[in-house]
Amino acid sequence: MDLKSLIRDIPDFPKPGIVFRDITTLLNHPQGLRYTIDTLTAKCRDYGLSPDYIVGMESRGFLFGVPLAYQLEAGFIPVRKPGKLPAAVHSIEYDLEYGSDSLEIHQDAVASHHKVLIVDDLIATGGTAKATADLLEKIGCEVLGFAFIIELIDLGGREKLPDLPIITIIDY
Ligand code: AMP
Repeated sequence: MDLKSLIRDIPDFPKPGIVFRDITTLLNHPQGLRYTIDTLTAKCRDYGLSPDYIVGMESRGFLFGVPLAYQLEAGFIPVRKPGKLPAAVHSIEYDLEYGSDSLEIHQDAVASHHKVLIVDDLIATGGTAKATADLLEKIGCEVLGFAFIIELIDLGGREKLPDLPIITIIDY
């Protein structure tokens, strides 16, 4: 299936010079959505990945992380922007192009012996995925790998990530 044709390109969003890869049009397509989740699942199985938990990043990581967790019979854990999670959190600060941001995870969601797979809709510079991996490693979890629907190859995000399986479906 030509999944790229189901991704909508929005030039100059959210700021001039960025081409936003909009996955709402993929989610909106019943066969495309099913094919995406089935492909992610098959690729995880090919790598022999059987995580205890999928960790999905706010907010589009949730959309693909939960159905993947269901397929792999894993649990799902959200990683969110500061101040969104209601219980006690672990957090990590990471650098952006201008300034910094942080990510949070519930303290009681994971323990050090857990195996996790990190999922987001898209990898661009890799900063978000790297920060999430660092957060999980700080807690002592074993990160098995990463899965993204879309990779923006020229930004070289995968070079920032540890030497682990990186699953992607569409690249630009
Ligand atoms: P990064 O940390 O640079 O790898 O950026 C990844 C995060 O930013 C993901 O959560 C994406 O949803 C979002 N993102 C970055 N660039 C784009 C883009 N061109 N189109 C859509 N989402 C993007």
